[in-house]
Amino acid sequence: MGILALQGDFEAHAKLVGRLGALAREVRSPPQLDGLDALVIPGGESTVMTLGIEREGLAEPVRALAASGVPVLGTCAGMIMLDNDHLGILDIRTSRNAFGRQVRSFEAEVELAGVAGGPIRAIFIRAPWVQEHGEGVEVLARLDGHPVAVRAGNVIAVSFHPELSGEARVHELLLAAVPSGSRSA
Ligand code: GLN
Repeated sequence: MGILALQGDFEAHAKLVGRLGALAREVRSPPQLDGLDALVIPGGESTVMTLGIEREGLAEPVRALAASGVPVLGTCAGMIMLDNDHLGILDIRTSRNAFGRQVRSFEAEVELAGVAGGPIRAIFIRAPWVQEHGEGVEVLARLDGHPVAVRAGNVIAVSFHPELSGEARVHELLLAAVPSGSRSA
């Protein structure tokens, strides 16, 4: 599984993926996407991440990877990167820092559709929510009425940071989307 490692909290994702028994490969340039069975775009700062993606020429290869059916997970700023105003991989429009400036960071219990074992402990840090989405996008969870977890086929996005609460079930959802037999780094 690849973790986009230009900026943000990629190390926490790599640790969690390791705990799940998958190999994590840090991705900083297009050749490092080759042969990946899944990709995580972590949280961080979406403006800085956008510049890094442009600088490294990663936009097209990441779009091609997602279009080929490889599962992709975006968390927080990673959700923003997937939307129609950025990489255009997921038919959503996000609102940045949507929960307001005063409430920069908080934790909540979030019920995630299709995930057993009770609500997820979710950490929100200057988090976005989904402002609009196309018909093909399934809302997996809402908070205060706003979508905070969505999915369209092999692409999943969450507003929060599962990797920071040690919550493995979102990454398990990603791994479950990998066709068996094609698991690699
Ligand atoms: N607010 C950040 C942004 O807009 C995202 C925050 C995060 O990833 N924790 O880029």
